Amino acid sequence: MRNPEPMQGVQQQWYEKRRGVFPRQIDGTFRRLKWAIMVITLGIYYVTPWLRWNRGPYAPDQAVLIDLANRRFYMFSIEIWPQEFYFVAGLLIMAGIGLFLVTSAVGRAWCGYACPQTVWTDLFQHVDRLVDGDRNAQIRLQNAPWSGSKLARRLFKWSIYLVISFWTGGAWIMYFADAPTLVREFWSGTADPVAYGAVAVLTGTTFWLGGFMREQVCIYMCPWPRIQTAMLDEKSLIVTYKDWRGEPRASVKAAQKQPAAAFGDCIDCNQCVAVCPTGIDIREGAQVGCITCALCIDACDRVMGQVGRPRGLIDYATLEDAAREKAGNPPTPHWKLIWHPRTLVYLGLWSAIGCALLFALGTRTHIDLAVQKDRNPPYMVLSDGKVRNAWTVKLKNMENRPRPMVVALKGLPGAVMWTDAMSQQDAARSVHATVAADAILPLRIYVAAPAGTGEQSFALILKATDREGGGDLEKARFDAPNEGEQGQ
Ligand code: SF4
Ligand code: SF4
Repeated sequence: MRNPEPMQGVQQQWYEKRRGVFPRQIDGTFRRLKWAIMVITLGIYYVTPWLRWNRGPYAPDQAVLIDLANRRFYMFSIEIWPQEFYFVAGLLIMAGIGLFLVTSAVGRAWCGYACPQTVWTDLFQHVDRLVDGDRNAQIRLQNAPWSGSKLARRLFKWSIYLVISFWTGGAWIMYFADAPTLVREFWSGTADPVAYGAVAVLTGTTFWLGGFMREQVCIYMCPWPRIQTAMLDEKSLIVTYKDWRGEPRASVKAAQKQPAAAFGDCIDCNQCVAVCPTGIDIREGAQVGCITCALCIDACDRVMGQVGRPRGLIDYATLEDAAREKAGNPPTPHWKLIWHPRTLVYLGLWSAIGCALLFALGTRTHIDLAVQKDRNPPYMVLSDGKVRNAWTVKLKNMENRPRPMVVALKGLPGAVMWTDAMSQQDAARSVHATVAADAILPLRIYVAAPAGTGEQSFALILKATDREGGGDLEKARFDAPNEGEQGQ
């Protein structure tokens, strides 16, 4: 796309050139909270695939595993089969509502603290400080002409980015296969090509998005800030510059020179801008670039402490509470601002889905019976006058050990059943089978009822005959010739 023609002697640009963001190191309550969340989230991500969980000899011992080959999802003691995808769907719905809940309660806290883009950008910004120094040193180096030492420094820093990115991509594939085995195969060159491809793509995206794109992902690429902005209302907690207290701004010296002038508390030190990871000035009001990380609160509180003014010139506040405070009322404690009707509705919805999933998880059976009747012919009249129907039944064992089971008839007086593996002479009211661990056993079942039996409903019952027990029941229809036909 071409830039438009110059207007009034000014070269108009379609896109604003990116301004470098070099956030200054800051310490404070919110910075420490960010550290803690970074350690926890990265720790969970990198360590989880290495956790072991004993499931016996018939199942993998990786605590969290998405076993695509065998179509299973393992999470500690929970094992999800493909037909139980509603659990995964439920978890995804909970995650979505959870995001709404967090936004309603504490604004864009997800963006500021736990979003992967924020966490990895934060990590890379610490690498910048480690290699290049704090904000001023980074700006000096950025503006310096290319030289051998600048190139060496850049290459060193980028190689650290690359190692972090590679670890990130490498950790991801460990969720899809046994981690120790995959590592061995990966380094010996025998892993599946998909694994190498996935690591390459994830390494590249982490390197590019975390190392170079950074705040541009939040401001221009990610749709979530727009959605969140639409969700925020006058009761939402956002990071707020209290202009009624801070304006008009003046440095401490200027204020001392004009003691009669009524200056505000902001000394225009620019520290809130210097620490901002997206490079915005919160004093210009709420904006989409603010991820509400609250580092500007830490910076301003520190400045207020140094100049002997009360903290909270920049603080979390709702628009409603800001208006109250502006009118001279004391600010409402943050914990009270969290609880408003929309938050409670989201919390109720989120909890209801969570309870429903827990209930379904706790009451699900680990064996299952599926039956499919032969349609053509629906019945056969045997030489001795008995009527025979046939079914394909599937016995499912969702445990990681073989289980003995019995399929029995309920109803259909006088009928007996047998399978392909049995002689008709051994037919009985039930048949026994052992189903392998984590497997489905298909059986052909023939049911013969005495001559003269009419069409009727009955049931096939599945029971596990081991100590743990459990069972399932499937209703079925027994087809037979009508009375007129039977008499012929
Ligand atoms: S850190 Fe506080 S005092 Fe300094 S410019 Fe920002 S708002 Fe004003
Ligand atoms: S303005 Fe403050 S809260 Fe918003 S992104 Fe910048 S430092 Fe974080």
